[in-house]
Amino acid sequence: MRILLMGPPGAGKGTQAARLAEKLGIPHISTGDIFRANVGEQTPLGLEAKRYMDAGEYVPDALTNEMVRDRLGQPDTEPGFLLDGYPRTTAQVHELDDMLGAAGHALDRVVELKVEIDELVARLVKRAAEQGRTDDTEEVIRRRQEVYAEQTAPLIELYTERGLVRTVDGLGGVDEVGERILAVLRS
Ligand code: AMP
Repeated sequence: MRILLMGPPGAGKGTQAARLAEKLGIPHISTGDIFRANVGEQTPLGLEAKRYMDAGEYVPDALTNEMVRDRLGQPDTEPGFLLDGYPRTTAQVHELDDMLGAAGHALDRVVELKVEIDELVARLVKRAAEQGRTDDTEEVIRRRQEVYAEQTAPLIELYTERGLVRTVDGLGGVDEVGERILAVLRS
């Protein structure tokens, strides 16, 4: 199974992706996690990516695509994978098509987690305050939502045209939402 999980920042995508990948026995590939690991290790990629991440902007496609190409080239992805947070731009969609197409593969399903923006911002501001993440200001949080709406939401349409999208209500408990995702993957 080659699955893509999409949804605005704060919709619980990372949590659901980790659980689902484990359940399905496929690797969970989160570009956000890979970037954060690089930031933590202060690699050249991490130092470059951090500037964008801190501002709520996307890391440039060239850097992101190269990182994913490298990850998808690893043998553990052969039986399938769950992509979380990639692709996020139309250029990345085409790049992913190219990477998968070269191996005779394609995405099987795109799951869209849907949550109201105002609900999300409220949740994220609260979480940032609780975790003492003072760099996550309401302004940066709102900027992330804007970037998602401008650059990533249009991808849903593109994948809908391919008949791949299944939309799931992202509001609810972790188990509840997890069950909804499994249900649409079975259908
Ligand atoms: P995430 O944890 O998925 O929300 O990602 C955290 C941050 O990493 C994002 O706000 C972006 O700055 C960056 N990032 C993650 N995935 C991508 C991507 N596919 N394209 C560009 N930037 C990304």
